[in-house]
Amino acid sequence: MVQVEGLHKMFGDLHVLKGVDLVVPRGSVCVVLGPSGSGKSTLLRCVNELEEITGGRIRVDGELMGYREVTKDGRSRLFRLHPKVVARQRSRIGMVFQRFNLFPHMTALENVAEAPVQVRGLGKAQARARATELLERVGLSDRAGHYPAQLSGGQQQRVAIARALAMDPELMLFDEPTSALDPELVGEVLAVMRDLARSGMTMMVVTHEIGFAREVADTVVFMDEGVIVEQGTPEQVLGDPQHERTRSFLAHVL
Ligand code: ADP
Ligand code: MG
Repeated sequence: MVQVEGLHKMFGDLHVLKGVDLVVPRGSVCVVLGPSGSGKSTLLRCVNELEEITGGRIRVDGELMGYREVTKDGRSRLFRLHPKVVARQRSRIGMVFQRFNLFPHMTALENVAEAPVQVRGLGKAQARARATELLERVGLSDRAGHYPAQLSGGQQQRVAIARALAMDPELMLFDEPTSALDPELVGEVLAVMRDLARSGMTMMVVTHEIGFAREVADTVVFMDEGVIVEQGTPEQVLGDPQHERTRSFLAHVL
């Protein structure tokens, strides 16, 4: 579903991703771990075409996302896709951030129904029916008419997940979805993510929730300073890490 090859990303002189190779098969869950500043968010943002990449290639479902390549004479050439193509590609990918980013002036239901109406041109009644189903799926049927300010952080984050699912994504990206939550609210969000994984969704999840990684991930990736230090099954990376950097990171988060 996701193929990342030799991905480089620079912000000016700052080399943030230094040749990342990663494959996320359809229907699998990839958990990305790593210290702050190691490039995890940037990796997700590149997959979602929120950042222009500096080198390498990213394919999602076999389709090439925008990239830059070095030609034979050593010059760099950008392969830019038409904004319409980028918009179509991005609409297949759902993203959930650390902060919930709900529209404050819309109810939970309206937040979930908004994009399918605006982007897909779905009829309002149809979009509301689907939004109702999705709120039920994340356990929030009784909160459909509430505004974000009337919801707990965990509930808001579950609305954000429902909102991403409303576009029928083939791939879901989660960037530290529980880091901003009070500890007692983390479990309800992870439970929704676990159900989503069991339903067969392809997921890339940046999180420090090692228990979630152990239970749900097919692949665990440990990143540090813009490179993947190691990757493998949860048993391999969490249970028997091969690199000192991974061991010391795990010692801090466990
Ligand atoms: P992580 O998510 O692992 O904490 P990030 O991908 O957010 O790491 O950041 C990696 C590095 O890239 C950091 O040094 C950060 O300051 C830098 N960075 C991220 N986004 C930008 C940006 N838009 N402009 C400049 N530097 C950035
Ligand atoms: Mg980050």
